[in-house]
Amino acid sequence: MLLKKILIANRGEIALRVIRACREMGIESVAVHSTADADAMHVRMADEALCIGPPSASESYLSIPAIISACEITGAEAIHPGYGFLSENAKFVQIVEDHGLTFIGPSAEHIRMMGDKITAKETMRALGVPCVPGSEGGVPDLEAARKVASEIGYPVIVKATAGGGGRGMKLARDAAGIDAAFQTARSEAKAAFGNADVYIEKYLTRPRHIEIQVFGDGKGNAVHLGERDCSLQRRHQKVLEEAPGPAIDAETRARIGKVCADAVARIGYSGAGTIEFLYEDGEFYFIEMNTRLQVEHPVTEAIFGVDLVREQIRVASGLPMSFGQDDLVLNGHAIEVRINAERLPNFAPCPGMVKTFHAPGGLGVRMDSALYGGYTIPPYYDSLIAKLIVHGRDRPEALARLQRALGELIVDGVETTVPLFHALLAEPDIQRGDYSIHWLEKFLAEKLNQG
Ligand code: ADP
Repeated sequence: MLLKKILIANRGEIALRVIRACREMGIESVAVHSTADADAMHVRMADEALCIGPPSASESYLSIPAIISACEITGAEAIHPGYGFLSENAKFVQIVEDHGLTFIGPSAEHIRMMGDKITAKETMRALGVPCVPGSEGGVPDLEAARKVASEIGYPVIVKATAGGGGRGMKLARDAAGIDAAFQTARSEAKAAFGNADVYIEKYLTRPRHIEIQVFGDGKGNAVHLGERDCSLQRRHQKVLEEAPGPAIDAETRARIGKVCADAVARIGYSGAGTIEFLYEDGEFYFIEMNTRLQVEHPVTEAIFGVDLVREQIRVASGLPMSFGQDDLVLNGHAIEVRINAERLPNFAPCPGMVKTFHAPGGLGVRMDSALYGGYTIPPYYDSLIAKLIVHGRDRPEALARLQRALGELIVDGVETTVPLFHALLAEPDIQRGDYSIHWLEKFLAEKLNQG
């Protein structure tokens, strides 16, 4: 039986995304918000809304007692976490279930397994998924770090097992750099995640970031929905994503897709997940798994014509998935750009009042945004204000459509990263789809004179 009332423990465009799916499915939606978000679009769009705390996320969107109480007050029987905030917090999932509520996402056990990157890598390796060469498990001290690094060969990257959002990673180009990299990574990891454990991987010099969308029913069935190329990154954060990947052909997609679908089927994974790889010289190397809906999920929805949030809600309701692997036929090409309220060239956050907002439209254009004219972007949260997703019959058509749609967009009052996308579209490498994970940083340093 389909869930009847869902609370969305998030804000911004992703809260709207879930509310929209609920409405189409005839499910009641409950928004929660901080005092800083009283005028936010998700509050206006949901069937009900409840204030759960002050602006600071730790006292509102991250407050487990506040969110559980909000379910009790409103009678919501399930929680959709969106991405970020509590979406990959195993303790939260446990508490939700202990209260007899449904978490729309995988089990606490799977979140815990993938949330610790060392455990995730060991699990994936055992399931036959190819991994980046590196230390076996954690690296306890400097001596071990030096030994592992010289065995795998420089350059190496020291990574926090509890890491996320591109933090807690340090590069050592040669033996002279390993001590500093190891110690800085440990102390940053301790400060950011409360866990100093690190591991070491071979640093790949020109890979692409290719991630596979998987979906499981929790009963041992799973499918893959191809890949997304998210190589265009700044500070390890994705800026533009596309599907299918310009460097991946149908045979490669089917092969790595099957490896991923089989792996999640074997662990009985439930709901949406993403298996992230670095891809270099025709080889895939697992880096991590995200046990939630990704920011960039719309490009996959566009080319497969599916609604991943609807599917998440179905599976959380105990219903079977509405598609099998053979139903998933890839159609055309999609690109997403993440538009942030940031001032170039340094990407300084630029919150404030949006005087005029006009969203682009027309064939093959999707705008996921919680903006409206007169809205004031609060300074407390992520600077993502809109995701513009275009779909075309092929990559050139998608690129032309992206340029056209960016030209129609008006965000007046705050600065945005839109000029960056205009600049990218003019680059021959981008037009050809020829870029690695280091391309954007180099471009920013050279063309935008960014320090
Ligand atoms: P996080 O969880 O912080 O996002 P990931 O492990 O997913 O960390 O890595 C984020 C990004 O860092 C990757 O997309 C890639 O750009 C870079 N990266 C991670 N591991 C390596 C590696 N072994 N070699 C080169 N780049 C890497």
